[in-house]
Amino acid sequence: MVNTQTPAGIRTPFDTPPDEGEVVEVADGVLWIRLPLPMALDHVNCYAIDEGDSWAIIDTGFSSKRGRAIWQKLLDGPLSGKPIGRVIVTHHHPDHVGLAGWFMERGAELWMPRTGWLMARMLTLDEQPSYPAETLDFYRRAGMDADVLAQRMTERPFNFADCVAPLPLGYRRLIEGEVIHLGGRDWDVRMGDGHAPEHLTLWAQDGTLVIGGDQLLHSISPNLGVYPTEPDADPVGDWLAACERLAPHATDTQLILGGHKLPFTGLPLRMRQFVDNHHHALDRLLAYLDTEKVAGACFVPLFKREITGSAYGLALVETVGHLNHLWRLGQVTRRLDADGAYYWKAV
Ligand SMILES: [Zn+2]
Repeated sequence: MVNTQTPAGIRTPFDTPPDEGEVVEVADGVLWIRLPLPMALDHVNCYAIDEGDSWAIIDTGFSSKRGRAIWQKLLDGPLSGKPIGRVIVTHHHPDHVGLAGWFMERGAELWMPRTGWLMARMLTLDEQPSYPAETLDFYRRAGMDADVLAQRMTERPFNFADCVAPLPLGYRRLIEGEVIHLGGRDWDVRMGDGHAPEHLTLWAQDGTLVIGGDQLLHSISPNLGVYPTEPDADPVGDWLAACERLAPHATDTQLILGGHKLPFTGLPLRMRQFVDNHHHALDRLLAYLDTEKVAGACFVPLFKREITGSAYGLALVETVGHLNHLWRLGQVTRRLDADGAYYWKAV
């Protein structure tokens, strides 16, 4: 695949993100907001949409003292004068749903896809003080580096409850194919997949804007990870299928408002990159599996570098994602060894 005959490249008309507690207007009545994240990807984008007598908020950032303080500054500053009427959450990950419950306590409605709501509420309630046996089995099957595994067993696992505010009962389900009225525009609801199941995207019918969440990102590709909740999942297959469904709706005039990085135009080209990048990664991985390997030994062909430190966990779950996809396609076999790890080999 070549990307050379593109009618338009990818452009970023708004190059300077808003400062903490401030906003940048990216379209009439649409404000871009940034919240910090304590990770390598150090921020998440949120948006506030002017609904006349209230605001609609798109995504929220983590629930943390700092996050709440920044929102309070926004509520007292650029968003003052009218209430938050609804919070629209694109998917269940903590950097997006984290403060939805906090806004609900203050009177906002929550609008969200059903799978995302169920996942967020389930994982927030399912607090795990130490690693469950199933999670440790999952790591062993993935061939997690022994030192990393030993280190993890001494730590508190990542818990939604630590960075997502409790979600009260009751939400408005967003459904594939429906049209919602939001900030004076009509928007088509289309679900993505792969990064998170039933991932919301909103497409303004006037052709000006698309709210992309982590499905439609500028310059980074979202993690397509497998988790112990569904160890044989095929997020790469889900991602490729979602790209095929969404690509026909992309135009060069839409401004894409993603969950991270910069707003951008050039979605038709970006959609091709989303697909091509994973096909190339799958090809490199398959070539590398001419001899048996565990998932944890496959980072170099996939990511073109060794990965250690804080990025290790995300790299491992995404590697399992690519292996599971090749396995579903019948292009690799996997063998459970006495050491508890799956050994993968090209057919
Ligand atoms: Zn995200």
